[in-house]
Amino acid sequence: MSTYNDARLRQVNDRPEQFAGRYVLYWSQMYRRLSHNHALDYALSRAVALNRPLVVYEGLRLDYPWASARHHQFILQGMADNAGRARAIGINYWPFVETPDNRAAGLLRKLAADACLIVTDDFPAFIAPRQTAAVALRSPARVVAVDGNSIVPLCLLGPAVSAAAHLRPRIHKAFTEAWQHRACAEPVFSKVTSGTIDPPFTLWAPANIEEFVAGLPIDQSVRPVAELTGGATAARTKLDVFRKERLRGYAEKRSAPCPPEEGHSSELSAHLHYGHVSIEEIIARVLGRWSPDKLNLACRGKREGYYSDDLDVNSFLDEAITWRDVGFQWHWHRAADTRSLESALPTWAMKTLDAHAADRREHLYALEQFESADTHDSLWNAAQTELVKTGRVQNYLRMLWGKKILEWTESPGEAYRIMVHLNNKYAVDGRDPNSYTGILWCFGLFDRPWAPERPVYGTVRYMSSDNTGRKFKLAGYLEYVRGLSGPGTGRKSLF
Ligand SMILES: Cc1cc2nc3c(=O)[nH]c(=O)nc-3n(C[C@H](O)[C@H](O)[C@H](O)COP(=O)(O)OP(=O)(O)OC[C@H]3O[C@@H](n4cnc5c(N)ncnc54)[C@H](O)[C@@H]3O)c2cc1C
Repeated sequence: MSTYNDARLRQVNDRPEQFAGRYVLYWSQMYRRLSHNHALDYALSRAVALNRPLVVYEGLRLDYPWASARHHQFILQGMADNAGRARAIGINYWPFVETPDNRAAGLLRKLAADACLIVTDDFPAFIAPRQTAAVALRSPARVVAVDGNSIVPLCLLGPAVSAAAHLRPRIHKAFTEAWQHRACAEPVFSKVTSGTIDPPFTLWAPANIEEFVAGLPIDQSVRPVAELTGGATAARTKLDVFRKERLRGYAEKRSAPCPPEEGHSSELSAHLHYGHVSIEEIIARVLGRWSPDKLNLACRGKREGYYSDDLDVNSFLDEAITWRDVGFQWHWHRAADTRSLESALPTWAMKTLDAHAADRREHLYALEQFESADTHDSLWNAAQTELVKTGRVQNYLRMLWGKKILEWTESPGEAYRIMVHLNNKYAVDGRDPNSYTGILWCFGLFDRPWAPERPVYGTVRYMSSDNTGRKFKLAGYLEYVRGLSGPGTGRKSLF
C-alpha cells in the first residue's frame, strides 16, 4: 500500500532487496539523528517487513572537502550524543571515525555485502549525491535515498523556480497534508529490529573529543568554536532558548548585526545542516499548540499571515520553510550544478556581470587578503573576523560580505570561488544547499535586475557598508567582534 511519504523515496539502483542479508542498513549520511527522521522511519519499516534488525551506520572520514577541527568536533559531538541515545533505546548504532591507522576505504562495501537494503539521506548538495551514487553502483542490495530535507517532499513542489515568491504558494498549498505526515518523534523498535548484530569493525567510542580531534591530520587552523556544541541535545537546548528568549522581536530585529546575546535569529543553521535537529521538530516547537485549521487561507501565497497571526512566528517560518526550501528545491532540480556561475545564474544576471567584467575595480584583493580580513572596509573586516572566529555571520552582513567580494575581485568567477571557499571552510553551516544559493544570490540568483546600472555589478543588486551603517547601529557589533578571542585572522590590527 502506498503512503504519502513514498514521495520521499528514490530508488538509486535497480537491485532487489536481498533476503539473504543480515540487516537493514540506515547509512546516516547527512541527517545525523535518531528521531524525527524520515529515512530512519523508512529503514525501520523495511526492517519490520523483512523481519531483520536495523543497523544505523554513521561514519566520519578524514578527506571530505574543507575537513577541519571545527567541522570534525561538531560532528563528533553529535555522534557521541547519538551513541548515548542508541544505548538508551537499545539499537544497533555503529559509529565509525577514520584515523590514519583505521581507514574507511572499503568499509561501506563491506557493510553493503551483508545488508538486505541500504537506506540513506537524499541530500541534494555537497558530496552526498556522489557518495550515494558510488555506493549504489557497487552494492548488491537495493539502495533507497529518502528526501527528509523539508516539510513538503521536494518532488511535490513542482518545477524549479526563479524566485522565492513563486515557491511560497506551492509550499503553502501542500503544507497541510505534509504536516500530517511528519517523521516519528519516537520511533518504536521491537525485539527483532533491535536484535544485536556484531559490527565488522571497532565502534568509535567517545572519549575526550577535543584531544582526539587535535591529533587528526585535518586542518587544525580552523579551530572548534567553544560556544557551539554539536548533537541533538545541544540543538534542542538552542531551540528552547530561541523560543523563550529570542523569537519575540524576530520579524523586526533578526537582521541587525549585534553581539550574540542581543540577537534574535535562532542560530540553528549549523544544527540543521548536520541534521542534529529536524526542520519539522523546529517548526512544531515554534508553533506550539497548533493545528492546520489555524492556517489563514486568505493569506495563502503571501509572506505574512499564513501560518500564524503572530508576526514573529510567521516571519521565522517564512525563513525556515520558504527560504530554506528555495535552496533545496533549486539543488534538487539542478543536480547540484554549482561548478560555475555560468551553469548556475539566470541569463540576465550572467549577461550583466559579463558586460561589466572588465570594469575598473576601485579596490582589488586576493584570497589571502580576504581571508585575513585585510581590506580597507572595517565592517567587512569585522564580518570576516566573526566568520573565522565563530563559524557564523549574521544574515544581513553575510549578504554584504558576499556583495563586496564580488565588487573587489578581478572577475565574478574568481569572486564566486573565493566566497565558496571562505564560506565552506569557516562556516559551521557551510557546504549546505543554502551555502551555494546564498552565495549565488549575491550574483543575482532568485533576484531581479535593479536600476541604476553600476560598475562591476551591472544591474545586480548593490549593497554598501555605508548604507548598512545608516540602517543599523553597529557600535555594539564592532565592539563584540573586537573582543572575540581565539586564533585570529592573521591580521595584526583589526579595524
Ligand atoms: C553569502 C551567503 C552565504 C550563506 N551561506 C549559508 C550557509 O552556508 N548555510 C546556510 O544554512 N545558510 C546560508 N546562508 C543563508 C542565511 O544566511 C543563513 O541560513 C542564516 O543566516 C542562518 O542563521 P540562523 O540559523 O540564525 O537563521 P534564522 O534567521 O534563525 O532562520 C532559521 C532558519 O531558516 C533558514 N534561513 C534563514 N535565512 C535564510 C536565507 N536567507 N536563505 C536560506 N535559508 C535561510 C536557515 O535554515 C535558518 O537556520 C547564506 C546567505 C548568504 C547571503
